[in-house]
Amino acid sequence: MSEDAKARLEDVRAQMAQACKIAGRAPKDVQLIAISKTQEADTIRPLIAAGQRIFGENRVQEAQAKWPALRAETPGIEVHLVGQLQSNKAEDAVALFEEIHSVDRLSLITALARAQDKLGRSPRCYLQVNIGEEPQKGGCAARDVPTLLAEAKAAGLDMVGLMAVPPADTEAAPYFALLAKLAREAGLPRLSMGMSADFEAAIMLGATHIRIGTALFGARV
Ligand SMILES: *Cc1c(COP(=O)(O)O)cnc(C)c1O
Repeated sequence: MSEDAKARLEDVRAQMAQACKIAGRAPKDVQLIAISKTQEADTIRPLIAAGQRIFGENRVQEAQAKWPALRAETPGIEVHLVGQLQSNKAEDAVALFEEIHSVDRLSLITALARAQDKLGRSPRCYLQVNIGEEPQKGGCAARDVPTLLAEAKAAGLDMVGLMAVPPADTEAAPYFALLAKLAREAGLPRLSMGMSADFEAAIMLGATHIRIGTALFGARV
């Protein structure tokens, strides 16, 4: 098990390095977020032992249950929220996560700002864009990025980038290119895009943060 985790991490890192080389980018400019949703602490520990420090979760409650103990074992761990966030969980999220990748509406911006003021803690935030305009997915419309970004900054959020999950089962590259264009226009330095099936294309199109679950942990149960 632990040898598996180490080998998978090495494979993903090698593929990242190769994609960076082709794209003429420095490997240090692309961060690997290990998406540990649904994985037990015992499955996560080997990855920590192999050197991985940045993890991502999609549910506040699950992260609250798993991460305090794992953080206590190893210093320097970062946990990012990559799933949809309800406004009534904003305070828990601000208390728990170093980064929140799913800011997508004014009501949530307001709730996060209030939580920040109360807790004196400001996670780095990404505006999530519903890049394929899919009704079932979180994220704001591309045309709303400038307004929401201005509102988030005015509210005091530390906005660092854009995040998207392109439609499944289609070529992701055009969506990555569109997200990169939106981030450029908005003057945001970071791009959270690319998952197990498409992270190399994401790196070639400018991803600074890739979110990898299956390729590191195997299929989720
Ligand atoms: C689950 C998830 C991932 C990881 O997906 P894999 O295909 O397992 O790499 C990335 N981003 C988000 C938002 C997710 O929910």
